[in-house]
Amino acid sequence: MAKHKEIVMSGIRPTGFLHLGNYFGAIRNYIKMQEDFECYFMVADWHSLTTHPDTKELRGNVERVLAENIACGLDPDKAAFFCQSHVHETAELYLYLNMLAYKGELEKTVTFKDKVRQHPENVNAGLLTYPVLQAADIILHRAQYVPVGKDQEQHLEMARNFANRFNHRYGEVFPEPVAYNYNAELVKVPSLDGKGKMSKSENQMATLYLADEDDMIRKKVAKAKTDGGPTEMNSIKPDYIENIFALMKLVCTEDVIAKYEADYNNCTIRYGDLKKQLGEDMVKFIAPVREKINTILPDKNYLKQVMEQGAEKANKSAGETMKLVREAMGLKYF
Ligand code: ADP
Repeated sequence: MAKHKEIVMSGIRPTGFLHLGNYFGAIRNYIKMQEDFECYFMVADWHSLTTHPDTKELRGNVERVLAENIACGLDPDKAAFFCQSHVHETAELYLYLNMLAYKGELEKTVTFKDKVRQHPENVNAGLLTYPVLQAADIILHRAQYVPVGKDQEQHLEMARNFANRFNHRYGEVFPEPVAYNYNAELVKVPSLDGKGKMSKSENQMATLYLADEDDMIRKKVAKAKTDGGPTEMNSIKPDYIENIFALMKLVCTEDVIAKYEADYNNCTIRYGDLKKQLGEDMVKFIAPVREKINTILPDKNYLKQVMEQGAEKANKSAGETMKLVREAMGLKYF
């Protein structure tokens, strides 16, 4: 008998162009995991409404996220690749979990506090309960592994709490989901300006997008924050230099990294040369992905077919779980 495969679930919001952080934090793991696990990968369109209530660009963004993931190697025949809004039972589970989530713990969430700071004019209840909806997305498929970047660690902890609370109150339905990365540590791809992480909607000149043209990539890397170089041998790197080395580790060869590490340690480093090399290596990495995106994106029929196929798989799994949930809760009267 075939071994039952462990279940994987993750999502990306359709809020703009995908970037290197999405790739190394999430998509790279999706591509590996689709070979060995039962995978559910989702375009999180409902989540995007928490910060992007204007839906004029939503369709285009959904199509872009689909095309960009597929260009990176996500295979819709192997994984269920679907849109959140096509799986209505997500909203039902979200409602039940909301009764098990407390205002205090939601208000303490770091991403919530960040969003309140960034958009004080739009602190809506959806934003506050974002981790609840995310937990619903994950446990709806009874997933064990969630490939995400480091920024999502706290949300995963909350998802575990909600799943456990449900299990304690109504009976064992959900496994505990854990964040997953093929390397031991979760990844954070820093932005080029030395401040925070690369991100879809903020700091666009400091973020490298998978759809960026070659010259744009070179230009962004050339502008990355550096300084006059170290004046003492073997000194500790400031954060923004550490970040540049972190970016090199994603795309440069070991020889190149070793050379610049040595140059840094003996104070002969030339940041201009380093950035030229990093720019070229980034171009080498991003250009083939961009070309694939440009061939997939115009094929709307194909993208529609991907969504339909994904919705069918995700709805099947959601239906099975929700039957167990309603039974466990006693919400079954005939
Ligand atoms: P964004 O923050 O760019 O809007 P999402 O919230 O849609 O991205 O996150 C999609 C996935 O990409 C998540 O798994 C998230 O952890 C990962 N991710 C986003 N930015 C980074 C980054 N700079 N480094 C590592 N992973 C990231």
